[in-house]
Amino acid sequence: MNAKTFNGLLKQVARLTLHQRELLRKRLDTLDGGEQKVLAVIESPRSEHPRSCPHCHGTELDRHGQVSGLQRYRCQTCHRTFNALTGTTLARLRKKDKWLGFSAALVASQPLRPAAAALQVHRNTTLRWRHRFLNSVKADRPTTLQGITEADETYFLESRKGCRKLERPARRRGGKAGKPGLSNEQVCVLVARERTGQTLDWVMGRGQMSKAELASALQSVLAKDALLVSDGNPTYRGFAQDAHLAHEAVNLSAGVRVNGAIHVQNVNAYHGRLKHWIQRFHGVATGYLDNYLGWFRALDNHHAASAEAVLAMTLGKFPHLTVT
Ligand SMILES: [Zn+2]
Repeated sequence: MNAKTFNGLLKQVARLTLHQRELLRKRLDTLDGGEQKVLAVIESPRSEHPRSCPHCHGTELDRHGQVSGLQRYRCQTCHRTFNALTGTTLARLRKKDKWLGFSAALVASQPLRPAAAALQVHRNTTLRWRHRFLNSVKADRPTTLQGITEADETYFLESRKGCRKLERPARRRGGKAGKPGLSNEQVCVLVARERTGQTLDWVMGRGQMSKAELASALQSVLAKDALLVSDGNPTYRGFAQDAHLAHEAVNLSAGVRVNGAIHVQNVNAYHGRLKHWIQRFHGVATGYLDNYLGWFRALDNHHAASAEAVLAMTLGKFPHLTVT
């Protein structure tokens, strides 16, 4: 392509939508021969942790040749060998050259079928990869929530999509519950969100959340001086009293939505974005719901802003630990 045409192309790029940019990026990644880039992400160091043996955590290491393009190390303590993939969810996974393309599909929230077509792999491969990748991505969680922290539950219809044994007649995917109102066909998800935007989520189980379930989620992550804000559900008040935490409730039933800083608007907006996003999957299997929650969280907090970032997270290199 001559320089004039190329400059014209560059000008066009600025007019692309976010989705079109992702498609373009993915196409370029494929053209660039994904494998070299993938290897670079795999070999990139973690800032806070010197490279250590995944078997005994020893740090006295010798270089010990290369296998499939990856540096192999031998531990001086236990004499075992390993590479940067050993002990990660991607160990022994094939088709490395397509991992960045697949990561880009996760960034673009792409359904399995088009992702498989674009990568020229079987749909079952993308299904397996999705959950391997997300298993690590979902582990990128803040350890504490501080200051004003809003918490609220939301519900998802239970789905045994992909399950071979059904206890009840199959429902059309993404269908409606048989019983009106809140029932055991609804799976409760708790979301807690700091005013800084740090967010945690938990799959709580079927039906209404108990105080014990709430405590098992929040007790260990809420800072001692946090202010828990919830709606009028008495479960929160009970938990806060037991845990000696400051708590304010918004009296939604009396039509009060906002009382100064006391509201649950941020967490409810998060629920709204999550529900809207998850619709594209036409009902997700309850057993994988936590993977989807982690996926959405990483998109919403921009940790999953690029294919490289997603691949790094899949290898346990989370944004706050990674050299950029
Ligand atoms: Zn060792």
